[in-house]
Amino acid sequence: MPEKRYRQPLVSVLGHVDSGKTTLLDYIRKTRVASKEPGSITQHVGASEIPVDVIYEVCRPVMEALNLKFEVKTGGLLFIDLPGHEAFSNLRRRGGSVADIAILVIDINGGVQPQTIESINILRERRVPFVIALNKIDTIYGWKSQEGRPFIVSEREQSPSVIAELERRLYRVVDQLMEHGINAERYDRIKDFTKTFAIVPTSAVSGEGVPDLLTILFGLVQRYMLDRLEVTSDEGKGTVLEVRQHPGLGTVLTAIIYDGTIKKGDTIVVAGSKGPIVTKVRSLLVPEPLQEMRMTKKFRNIDEVSAAAGVMISAPDLEDVLAGSPIYVVRDPSMLEEMKREVQEEVERIVIKTDRI
Ligand code: GDP
Repeated sequence: MPEKRYRQPLVSVLGHVDSGKTTLLDYIRKTRVASKEPGSITQHVGASEIPVDVIYEVCRPVMEALNLKFEVKTGGLLFIDLPGHEAFSNLRRRGGSVADIAILVIDINGGVQPQTIESINILRERRVPFVIALNKIDTIYGWKSQEGRPFIVSEREQSPSVIAELERRLYRVVDQLMEHGINAERYDRIKDFTKTFAIVPTSAVSGEGVPDLLTILFGLVQRYMLDRLEVTSDEGKGTVLEVRQHPGLGTVLTAIIYDGTIKKGDTIVVAGSKGPIVTKVRSLLVPEPLQEMRMTKKFRNIDEVSAAAGVMISAPDLEDVLAGSPIYVVRDPSMLEEMKREVQEEVERIVIKTDRI
């Protein structure tokens, strides 16, 4: 028996407009660039990976303070670059979502707002567990900020009146969440993470609380979500994030591959507006290492990629592909008709959903 392989967990960020989703994601991505040698990690299209060693480095103080121990079996955290519930809706996969876990961002000043509730509902519907980032703690009057430090360290440096205000706002949000059936508590006060949603106070601007947030996400994944992350199939399965024009390549897809492998020359089935499309992968592209620092959009060709990964796919006949469509590799020609049927079924669900919303 070959040893089981667990892929990286895919993380999505949701929440009300202006709660700080983009700022938080940007801060998290910066962690990666600042602390790694360029070129030593996998680059992705449409997603950003925080490798395990970086997570360890950033999270060690939190793990030590809380005496948290877990065995790490997966790769690092793979964040979907585009935040928000519209983007999340396109991360559909059979029976749920491509995202394995999510961050629900709530502004500590605004509390629970309409899109917070929409986000909770869609996360529930797709059965995606989530951690709450109670964001903008630095806006509490008198808050003393220090770049990137864990919340549990930061809290010790605050005055009693600041702590009292933080508690007041935090428990106001806890009450609001309770009204929507969500039992939540500050993460360092939780006894059983299977019964309570964790709230991590954060500042997306100073990065305070980000180590705590990464620790809880990663810890929950290692403890409770391994089954879902086992890479089971040899033939790649993914979802289309977007269909776009690429100078020189024509129409290309960006896709998240969540299971198996996709290779150059593979036959793939995707959903088009007029039915399933069968085509052959002409090229697979990922960003050049260093891309983020040079701010250029250079891509390099690769021969194959394994889950989980974000890639750009060039192939003939992609013009009509629907964003949010499944993408399946088919290496056994006798399976082709069945896979086409599956893709068609999945798309009917997407269309029904879009109409309803
Ligand atoms: P999004 O709509 O949820 O993606 O929110 P943005 O990330 O665009 O943030 C909205 C505004 O809030 C921007 O002006 C951010 O600079 C600001 N912001 C986001 N997070 C924080 C935070 O933690 N502290 C403070 N002070 N401002 C924040």
